[in-house]
Order: sequence, then structure tokens, then C-alpha cells
Amino acid sequence: MRSRGVIARVPAKVNLQLSVGPLGSDGYHEVTTVFQAISLFDDVSVATAAIGNGLTIDISGQTSMGVPVDSSNLAIMAAELMIKNYDLPKDLAIKLKKEIPVAGGMAGGSADAAGVIVGLDSLFELGLSRDEMESIGSQIGSDVPFSICGGVAIGTGRGDQITPALAKGTYFWALALSGQGLSTPAVYQECDRLREGLSISTPQVSESLMQALRAGDAKALGKSLTNDLQSAACSLRPALRLILDVGVDYGALGGIVSGSGPTVAFLVSSEEHAMDLTVALSASGVVSSVVRASGPVSGARIIESF
Ligand code: ATP
Repeated sequence: MRSRGVIARVPAKVNLQLSVGPLGSDGYHEVTTVFQAISLFDDVSVATAAIGNGLTIDISGQTSMGVPVDSSNLAIMAAELMIKNYDLPKDLAIKLKKEIPVAGGMAGGSADAAGVIVGLDSLFELGLSRDEMESIGSQIGSDVPFSICGGVAIGTGRGDQITPALAKGTYFWALALSGQGLSTPAVYQECDRLREGLSISTPQVSESLMQALRAGDAKALGKSLTNDLQSAACSLRPALRLILDVGVDYGALGGIVSGSGPTVAFLVSSEEHAMDLTVALSASGVVSSVVRASGPVSGARIIESF
């Protein structure tokens, strides 16, 4: 008998490179980004429900506060799209167990949408290819395809056209979290404001970054981390500069605002180094909390059927 429900585990991401092109006439920026999936996870359960129950969502976990429970939740949007596209039953129960920071530049909402897509594919034995699931995901948000793919990958277009990339080794991160999120559209707007009058070229993948990844060279990777949104995020939240300085002073191999922030991701040389930096950042009083993670890890995958 087919299972009643499944649980998909989906990772957070950091952007090792985020290069932002000029603002297009459609209001979007063309970006070139290199993602790495890291070991902070949301668990997304999808299950069939009694007829008439409709689509429901229940949200728990360390980072569940303030996450919308209405149709603006990306997990609900993904479920509605899957129901429509594949004529699935409308009575479904979604449960999110959240560990990924909300509005932290780590694709938390996108992870949940990815979990729903992969979960429903498995639950209803749709047999969708990864490409098909990524293409559905891109209709929900730019980061959803990478949340499905995982590992290390290059994102082009709006960051939603994903090409897996070759990477060696495991990388360790200390992530400085902020108590309050930053809005992605607000950060892009600030980026446009700061760049007004400058001529912006089409973004390219950083060759030194790809070389560092191919060699498994964490030191070289640390030096190659770049984010065009960093100045904008720091302009909106000046404390981020202080956090970046503290991390680098305490020996991080590199530090970068993740995506649109405000999470600051520090690359470190080992788990012990991550622990040392965690202590230093916490003691500095400039960070509300620090979590450790490593990557790359795989994208959305089923961990349980019930
Ligand atoms: P990205 O890195 O993809 O730009 P982010 O990590 O900065 O995203 P999210 O955690 O995805 O940001 O949340 C951004 C906003 O999306 C939140 O403030 C919240 O209102 C909304 N949202 C919708 N669905 C979810 C969800 N399932 N989990 C978290 N936030 C969600």
C-alpha cells in the first residue's frame, strides 16, 4: 500500500559568490551565483488528509516564529501549484519543522517549497525528474531549484537556472545570526541606489572561486567569497560590518553576508575552529546567536515514509 505521508529534509544555503547584474526591464536583476548547501535543515512532512479538510499547515521548530500560515507561505504555494499541475487531492496536511533562520538570506522559505515538491512527487509516485521539479520550483522562487538540487551549484538567470558544480572536500561554517531579518527586495533596492550612475556588466562566475572548490582549498575559497549585495545589506544594517570585522579578526578564512543577509557566514578551517569562532563572536556581544554547519550536503531528500 502507498504511504500516507513522507518527510523531506531540506538544507539551507550560503552563496559563495553572488554577482548582481543591471536591473532588467522586468524589474529583476540577472545574477550569477554559486550556492553551497549546508547542514541546517527544515523537515517538511506532507500527508494525505480526510476529504474536506483542505490544505493545512502546521509550523514548529526553533525558527518557526513569524512564519506565515496563510497562502503566502511558500510551502502552501508549492502545494497549490503541484495540486493544479498534477491533479492531486486537495486535502493535504503539511508540517514544517524549521531550523533554518527566517529572512536570513539562507533560503528558508524556498527550502520548504522544495520539500513540498519533492515530498509530493514521492508520495504520489509522480516520477518527476530533478529538472522537472526544479522548473516547478522556479515558479515559486529563485532559490527553490537549488534547494532541490543541493551540493554546490552555479545559478544563473534569476539564480534559478542551476548547473551542479564540481567541488572537493567539506567546508566548515560559523553563521552569525541576527535577531531581525532583512527583506530581500529592500536589499536589492538599496543595491540599485548605491550603484546609481555606475555601469554594471553582466555577471560572470569567479574562476578563482571555482578553482578553489575544485582543489578543495578552504583558504583560497575564503579569499574568493564575494557578494554584490553585501554593501547594501551593511548599509541597511551597519552592525553587519562590525560582525564581519570581528570574525576576520578572530581568524576566519573568509566572511561574507549570505545572500541578502543579515546572516554573516564565516568560513573556518575545522569544526574546532568553528567552535572557537562561535565563542569569540558570542563574547563580542555584536551577534545575537551563532550556529555551526558544514557543507556541501545533498538537496531535498526523503528521510521517512509513514
Ligand atoms: P532567500 O535567501 O531565498 O532570499 P531568506 O532566507 O532571506 O530567503 P526566507 O526565510 O525564505 O528568507 O523568508 C523570507 C520571508 O518569506 C519571511 O519573512 C516570511 O514572511 C516569508 N515566508 C513565506 N514562506 C515561508 C516559510 N515557509 N518559511 C519562512 N519564511 C517564509
